Amino acid sequence: MVRRAGEYDAVIVGASLAGCTAAILLGRGGARVALVEKSPDPGAFKRICSHMVQASGVPTLERLDLLEAIVAAGGIRSRLRFWTEWGWVEAPPERAAQGVNLRRELLDPIVREAAAATAGVELMLGHEAVRLLRDGDAVRGVAVRDRDGVDADLRATLVVGADGRESHVAELAGVPAKTLPHGRFAYASYFENPSGSLDSSVWFLDPQISAAFPTDGGLVLYVAMQTKDRLPEFRRDPKAALLASVAAIPESSTRPGREVGPLLGKLQMPNRVRGPVAPGLALIGDAALATDPLFGVGCGWAFQSGAWLADCVAPALHGAEPLQKGLARYRRRHRRELRGHAFFIHDYANGRRFNPIEKLAFFAAARDPELATMFDAYATRQIRPTQMFAKTIPRTIAVAAREALPHRGGGVPASR
Ligand SMILES: Cc1cc2nc3c(=O)[nH]c(=O)nc-3n(C[C@H](O)[C@H](O)[C@H](O)COP(=O)(O)OP(=O)(O)OC[C@H]3O[C@@H](n4cnc5c(N)ncnc54)[C@H](O)[C@@H]3O)c2cc1C
Repeated sequence: MVRRAGEYDAVIVGASLAGCTAAILLGRGGARVALVEKSPDPGAFKRICSHMVQASGVPTLERLDLLEAIVAAGGIRSRLRFWTEWGWVEAPPERAAQGVNLRRELLDPIVREAAAATAGVELMLGHEAVRLLRDGDAVRGVAVRDRDGVDADLRATLVVGADGRESHVAELAGVPAKTLPHGRFAYASYFENPSGSLDSSVWFLDPQISAAFPTDGGLVLYVAMQTKDRLPEFRRDPKAALLASVAAIPESSTRPGREVGPLLGKLQMPNRVRGPVAPGLALIGDAALATDPLFGVGCGWAFQSGAWLADCVAPALHGAEPLQKGLARYRRRHRRELRGHAFFIHDYANGRRFNPIEKLAFFAAARDPELATMFDAYATRQIRPTQMFAKTIPRTIAVAAREALPHRGGGVPASR
């Protein structure tokens, strides 16, 4: 049964981080927006996520007027540091960028409430996108189904797929996904954080990885990301295997307290890349690019890509130019900002060990605060790979020559 027809400037499918960001900014710009979410629960949240929002995403949170609310809810401003066998790579505290960590069960409702409170935004909970409406080749709306099985057609100038890694909207629109393999799996659990340390830490145990993300409520999430040959051990007793990996973390200045759970596991997380626009359609957040969670980029990029899209299509929604022009601008922005990062993330995601260049880079950055600061800007996704290489290559060679040559006649020492 088709009950009603709505006319909107934009229909956004998915009221999580990316969708709510685009809805807030489009609504503030005067657009009429339907924000469609299949979960009926206003407090719904993404369960499997280590919830570190990188520093690159923080300016968007400020623009959305959400940073204060996130910190007031217990979100902590956290720096990022990396350990390899050559030591810690960490920028001096006063030069290190700060992200923000708040569990998704608190973060998602804050963001969704802000979207629902924005003039022009109609949040439609409990509605699932089931079909796209078309005008020739162009997408011109979405058919949604409510919990009682009642369908409604929502017509719009622009349809936005913000429906995550498995994007049904992209599939309905025939936007192909390129899938790149992921060679690791992840288990995680929350622990008490008796040290109160606020640093987010990643230990590259080459090729295994451990990580700790302090967050609200005096908690820290410990994560084990291991190559798939270790899966049988984790499957047998996931909790014991996770605790063993936490106990084996080297050079940790802190130790976790009691494990409080829940135990989370994600066994398959292939990288997924889609072209972010088609006629009448844009994809944002994970729907456009879902990469290895190891580097904690997805939430920041969901906020950022939602904002890029809203900025790029604003003139078209005001009738100042054809929509395709705004969509082309968004495609270029998305590509310029994220393609290089995604390339290197995907390259490491297959579970391989460090290559000689990476070894040299970590070796040098662990010995030189200037390099560590540049590395920090890159890892927190504030500069692109080309900018990072331009800044670091000559200095890395100089530091490595100074530090390594006397020891090994030219090679990077195996460990400190
Ligand atoms: C193990 C793991 C750890 C991670 N850790 C981090 C981290 O530390 N930091 C970080 O930045 N990122 C991390 N990520 C990635 C992060 O979770 C995602 O990148 C982020 O949630 C993407 O946000 P989104 O808004 O694009 O999509 P999602 O958060 O996936 O939201 C999609 C929304 O669309 C809705 N939806 C789906 N289909 C429909 C439909 N047909 N109709 C209506 N609604 C629909 C869903 O209900 C959901 O609300 C991690 C991911 C994993 C798997």
